[in-house]
Amino acid sequence: MKATDFNLRAGIKFDVDKGLTTFQDSRLVIFDSNAIGLLRNELIQVLGLKKAKIIFLRFGFQHGYADFMQMSENYKFDSEMDLLASGPIIHTWEGIVHAKPKDLSVDRKKGEMFFTGIWTNSYEAEQHLSYHKPGKEPVCWSLMGYASGYATAFLRKPVIGIEPVCRGKGDKHCEWKLMNIEAWGKEADLYKEAYSEFFEKVAIKWPKSQ
Ligand SMILES: [Zn+2]
Repeated sequence: MKATDFNLRAGIKFDVDKGLTTFQDSRLVIFDSNAIGLLRNELIQVLGLKKAKIIFLRFGFQHGYADFMQMSENYKFDSEMDLLASGPIIHTWEGIVHAKPKDLSVDRKKGEMFFTGIWTNSYEAEQHLSYHKPGKEPVCWSLMGYASGYATAFLRKPVIGIEPVCRGKGDKHCEWKLMNIEAWGKEADLYKEAYSEFFEKVAIKWPKSQ
């Protein structure tokens, strides 16, 4: 199948007798976005911006990584690129953001990735802006985490995504830029710190592919 053939509607099962909603082997829970926005803002108030950001980067990473595992294990895509491109598609189906890929190149032998795209209707930017004025930094932390987790699981090597453009800093929409860890400089230090535990697990899980 092509990435665009993916349909989350067909993959979600509602078991109302048990109170279980699942996407393949993952349990899903549906929350109102305002409730997540409230939780996010309270973490900012209690812990400060930096710690809250790290938590949401990690929260997103876990989500993206888990979605990738379900996609790779339960669907047969025509190509590896379709498997990677299914990330922005399921992210969109989940109602988190509308994700449209722009540039993509992957060199698995060298362990390199460059993947960019446009995010519109980010729920996280929307929530952030309902509490805060636009600032200097991108704010779609869980989205960046998600993209990083998905891409890392795909490449089987650490990949970091940062938003060069974000509504949270006054731009009209958001954009993601994913690159293998070596391609980033100091600007990715906080992200490396946030994901370090995950990156160690990736190295343990696929030692032969490194
Ligand atoms: Zn954003």
